[in-house]
Amino acid sequence: MSNDIKPEITVTAGANNLSHPVVLLVDDQAIVAEAIRRMLADEADIEFHYCKEPASAVGKANEIRPTIILQDLVMPEVDGYTLLKFYRGNPATSGTPVIVLSSREDPKDKRQAFENGASDYLVKLPDKIELIARIRAHSNTYLLQLQRDEAYREMKKLQEQLTESHKKLEESNATLLRLSTMDGLTGIANRRHFDETLLLEWKTGLRENTILSVIMLDIDFFKKYNDGYGHQGGDDCLKEVAKTLRDSLNRPGDFIARYGGEEFVAILPGTDAKGAAIIAEQMRANIATKNIPHAYSNVADHVSISLGVAAMRPDKSDSPADLVAKADGALYKAKEQGRNCYVVAE
Ligand code: GH3
Ligand code: MG
Ligand code: MG
Repeated sequence: MSNDIKPEITVTAGANNLSHPVVLLVDDQAIVAEAIRRMLADEADIEFHYCKEPASAVGKANEIRPTIILQDLVMPEVDGYTLLKFYRGNPATSGTPVIVLSSREDPKDKRQAFENGASDYLVKLPDKIELIARIRAHSNTYLLQLQRDEAYREMKKLQEQLTESHKKLEESNATLLRLSTMDGLTGIANRRHFDETLLLEWKTGLRENTILSVIMLDIDFFKKYNDGYGHQGGDDCLKEVAKTLRDSLNRPGDFIARYGGEEFVAILPGTDAKGAAIIAEQMRANIATKNIPHAYSNVADHVSISLGVAAMRPDKSDSPADLVAKADGALYKAKEQGRNCYVVAE
């Protein structure tokens, strides 16, 4: 045995301590370290580190992350039991298996070692085969535990990422749905949303035998408005009209949409022709009261609308399109009758 052994010797077999045994021997006797080193010399995959100073054992363990600690019991500064407690209290070594190496064979010592958190107990100097077998067994168990912990953390991370992207997907789906049912210029419902809503209300009317009203309306002389105030001015007017129409509806089931161009349409569920006529007049009056200047209109000095009102009790022999056609016919009549007014279909 050589006597020039250094307090800390390191034989490195690799850097990844998640794949092979890393031994840390803590013993004040260099001669023991040399004996153990020789026992492990032929085991190419076992990385061996030696720490002579018990006081620096935890620091050394933090640095090299051993998969197994071989711990002497009787040392000058600190006893092995105290060190065992330090290992257990230190995050980097709290789970690291410790084999106590002792010259004592007293069962009391063994019991105390195990009570203090030792994983195993060997009497010095141990048999080479037994030492290697135990180093491997304890290291493997510990490495498996580390790998399992790592896999669990990865899984948790993945789960969080999945939850996050699921949330984002739901958000963009909601946005998409909103955009696909909304008119881009005015922000109220679009034609598609109108068709779907009317069909739903039609079916409800069929089931519950209730009356359903539709109001079709159109801005008067809007071509002239565009020609006079420009397309941008026309767009601003459409936005203002849409907002006023929306504000003219009171009931939760009432629905307003842009039908296309300067035409709008309202659905009033559970409302008969008389009730719908009141709403139509309210819409007309509200637009008039807005007093949006229209110097090129032949019917007023402000923007005005004409409206057609139709009511039906949904029947299997009719369709929602019939209701829309009736309202459209009434609107045509309102235009004929001079505009800025409403007509209720027969
Ligand atoms: P009437 O009183 O008979 O309804 O006459 P009108 O001029 O309003 O009707 P017409 O159908 O001849 O013209 C509708 C005009 O609406 C044509 C087009 O320039 C304008 N228009 C349609 N959609 C838009 C739009 O999105 N923005 C703008 N600025 N104008 C539009
Ligand atoms: Mg028009
Ligand atoms: Mg029109």
